[in-house]
Amino acid sequence: MTGKTSIKIDYSRCGDEVGVDPRSCGKCLRACDPAIFLLHETLGAVEENPFDPQKWRITPLWPDLCFRCMKCVESCPERAVSVRWKPAGGN
Ligand code: SF4
Ligand code: SF4
Repeated sequence: MTGKTSIKIDYSRCGDEVGVDPRSCGKCLRACDPAIFLLHETLGAVEENPFDPQKWRITPLWPDLCFRCMKCVESCPERAVSVRWKPAGGN
């Protein structure tokens, strides 16, 4: 079966604005065996102040390695992670 895995983090649930620092949590990051998540500061992103050292993020960087075990989704206390399978030709 061909298709693509789509992994999203809802930053309205995980981020400085809502008092959740991904550096202190990082549960999704640790739960993922193929280590597809990256913890990084938002330098270069479209932010009010991209140089603010408090603005750290988790980004799903290598979704092609995901085998949809759902451990990241289950481990997130904020329900901020979603994993979806998109069949080829779907949207
Ligand atoms: S579903 Fe499993 S393999 Fe995929 S990103 Fe989450 S923890 Fe990693
Ligand atoms: S588990 Fe959830 S709250 Fe924790 S860092 Fe990952 S996305 Fe953020």
